[in-house]
Amino acid sequence: MRILVVEDEQKVAQALRAGLLGEGYEVVLEPSGEGAYFRVNTEAFDVILLDVMLPGRDGLQVLARIRERGIKTPVLVLTARDTLADRVKGLDSGADDYLVKPFAFAELLARIRALLRRGRAAETLRLGIADLNMDLVSRKVTRAGKALELTVREFELLHYLLQHEGQVVSRDALVHQVWHEPARSATLDNVIDVHIARLRRKVDLDQRVKLIHTVRGVGFVLREDEP
Ligand code: CA
Repeated sequence: MRILVVEDEQKVAQALRAGLLGEGYEVVLEPSGEGAYFRVNTEAFDVILLDVMLPGRDGLQVLARIRERGIKTPVLVLTARDTLADRVKGLDSGADDYLVKPFAFAELLARIRALLRRGRAAETLRLGIADLNMDLVSRKVTRAGKALELTVREFELLHYLLQHEGQVVSRDALVHQVWHEPARSATLDNVIDVHIARLRRKVDLDQRVKLIHTVRGVGFVLREDEP
C-alpha cells in the first residue's frame, strides 16, 4: 500500500513518514501542491494525505484539480483549521475524509484503513459472466478482452441483466427498471426488442458461448449456454 503525504512542514512530514513506514506502508513525501499534482498524474497511490496549508496552491485547490482529472484515489485532508465552512469546502473539493490537526496517530491509521477498505469495495464495482466484463466506474464493457461500444441505454440494459444473472427478467421489469416508464405498451415492447437485438449483436455475435437468451412469452435471461 502506497501513501502520498503532501505536507510542507518537514517535522510533521518526517514524523508521519516514520509512523506510516512502521505500519508497513510505503510512503512518498511531497512538500508542495504543484509537486503533488504532478505525482498523482504520473504515479499510482492507494491513499493521499493532503495538508490544506501549503505554500503556493493550497491543498484544496490541488484536490479540486486532481478530481477534475478524474483521479479517484481516496484523499484524507489534514488541516489545522476546523470550521464548518472549511469542512464543507474540503468535502466539496473531493476529499473523502477530514482530520483536524493535531490528531492522534492511531486516529490517522484508523481513517487510512477505512479509506483503503472503501477503495477495495470500489474494485467490486465490476460485474461479469463468462468472458463478459462490466466496469461500473469507468463504464467500460468488454467481451473476450475486446471493448464493446454500447449506448447509454444498452449499458443500462446489460447492467440490469448482469445484476440478475441466471434469472429470467420480465419485460415489465425492464420497462420499470431500465426504461423508467410506468407501464408496458406495444411501442415500448418494440423498443425493448430492438435494444435486445442490438445488444445481442454486440455481445454474442461471433461468440461460441451465447449469453443473452429470450425466454418466449416471459422475458430475457443472461446465462452462459454452451452451444
Ligand atoms: Ca502546512
